Order: sequence, then structure tokens, then C-alpha cells
Amino acid sequence: MIALKNVTKLYQQVVAVEDLSLTVEDGEIMGIIGHNGAGKSTALKMILGLVAPTAGEIRVLGRDMVRDGASVKRFIGYLPEESPLYETMTVTEYLMFFAALYGLPKRDAAARIDVLLDSLKLPERERFTGELSKGMKRKVTIARTLLHDPRLLILDEPNSGLDPLTSFFIINYLKHLRHQGKTILLSAHNLFHIEYICDRVAILKNGRLVVCDRMESIRESLGHREFQVIFRAYEDLAYEQQEGNYVFRTSEITKIAQMLETISEHDWALVNLSVRESALEDIYVALMTADV
Ligand code: ATP
Repeated sequence: MIALKNVTKLYQQVVAVEDLSLTVEDGEIMGIIGHNGAGKSTALKMILGLVAPTAGEIRVLGRDMVRDGASVKRFIGYLPEESPLYETMTVTEYLMFFAALYGLPKRDAAARIDVLLDSLKLPERERFTGELSKGMKRKVTIARTLLHDPRLLILDEPNSGLDPLTSFFIINYLKHLRHQGKTILLSAHNLFHIEYICDRVAILKNGRLVVCDRMESIRESLGHREFQVIFRAYEDLAYEQQEGNYVFRTSEITKIAQMLETISEHDWALVNLSVRESALEDIYVALMTADV
């Protein structure tokens, strides 16, 4: 659905995005993460045709976005990082106004707005948008993004500045949209959310793509897995001690098997066996602080 080939964007001397090649497949949720200034928003704006690349090729739904971007814009819903509302309009007026811009007939628009606001759990339809909380405002902008029922959603930090519950509601809402067949490309700083909803994750560092893969593959290639066995033995042993128990840690599954055998042979008591895998956050911090 989206294909970037060797895309670079320079703002005067600043390299915002460098030699970026990336694809987003039909029906997937792809997350772009990276430090402030890594080039995420620039990449998203280039995909939308709002910013022209300095070099490279961008295709969306098979169309070249530089030469033919206008023809696919109606299939795309874009939520910018900051999206002010017309504060003297009510929620309904505001959405009806945008529905008219999209060319939706009035009756269809009213029905669509009802469905969207219901699904977003936003009953404050007759209040002025200027009176709404940040979370309610974000829901209105999300509804606006969905008015024309786009196939592709490009969302720049959809849950930035929202409280944990609203944030999680929106993340789950994106999952629901994916089930409806939408393709979603989003940027976010909350790595837990990215890990939770994304099929694939792209990590940008200083404008360059350092990783783009499925979460399981990222974990396998860059992460760390640690097994931990806690056991009790009434004799002095050379293992780490913790609250009267012994602890054995390893990243090798064969060593765990051996340890379990040893515990059984000596009639020691197994208290707990657990596995801890690197979270995206651990991998991200390691990548961002590495000298590459
Ligand atoms: P953040 O997480 O802070 O939103 P980002 O990853 O989205 O950051 P971008 O906004 O794409 O990063 O910025 C990438 C680089 O390009 C930065 O160095 C930024 O200063 C520069 N940049 C972005 N937009 C412009 C512009 N319009 N003119 C000049 N430089 C720009």
C-alpha cells in the first residue's frame, strides 16, 4: 500500500530523512518510532505528499505521490501531530463542515458522524469544541480523519498528551479500525502502545532507518531473553540468594533443562520458573544509545 524507495529529505543543511526504504502492507498497523527530530513527521508528511522528497520515490496505492498524489488523497485519513479545532463550532457543526468539504451528502454525513462519535464514546456533540478536554478534542480530530472512510490512516502521535485511559482507548480503537480493514501507519513515543498494537515497527535514528521488522523478529535479533529458576534447598550452595531461596538465571534454554534436572535429583523444591523478554523499550534504548 505504501512503498518508499531511497527517500531523502533535506531542509537546507539539515538531513531530516536519509535514504529511507520502507513498505507498509495492506491491512497492517505499522509503527514508526524514534527520538525527537528523528524524522518521523517528515517521513509521514512525504508519504502524504505534503512535503516533497529531495530524492527517492514514494508510492501510495500504486501512485507516485510527487507526480500523482492528488488522485489518492481521498483514500487517506491524516491526523497531524497538532490539529487545532475551530473552537466556536460545536462538535457536530465542526464535523458537518468537514463532511461537506469531503463532499458527503448532509444526511449521510449526519449518520456517519453519529456512528463515529458513538464508537469513539463522545457524547458531547452539541458542546463548543473550545470547551472540550484534550482527550475529547483528540477524539473529534480522529472522527474528522475517518469521515470519508479512508482505506489508509496516517496518524502522527495520535495519543500524545492524553491520560493513560484515554490513550489506551484510542490505541484499542485503532485495533478495531484495523479489524475493519484499515491500513494504519502511526508514529508514537509510547513504546508499550506500539508494541501492543503494531504488526511491524520501524525505528528511525537521525533520519535513518535502523530496524524495520515484526516485533517477534526484532526481539529475536536484538532482544534478550532470560530464564529464572527460584528454588529452595536446605544446604549451602553457591547460587545467588533471594529471600531464603536460591536463584539461577540464564539465557540458554538447555541450561534451564539441566537445572531443573539437578533440582529434581537433589530433591530441592522448585519455587518459581519465569521468562523475561526484552520489551521494545529495552531494545530501543540500547539502539539509541549505541554508537551507530
Ligand atoms: P518529534 O518526535 O519531535 O515530533 P520527528 O521525529 O517527527 O520529531 P521531524 O519533525 O521530522 O522529527 O524533524 C526531523 C528534522 O527535520 C529535525 O532536525 C527538524 O528540525 C527538521 N525539520 C522538520 N521540519 C522542518 C522544516 N519545515 N524546516 C526545517 N527543518 C525542519
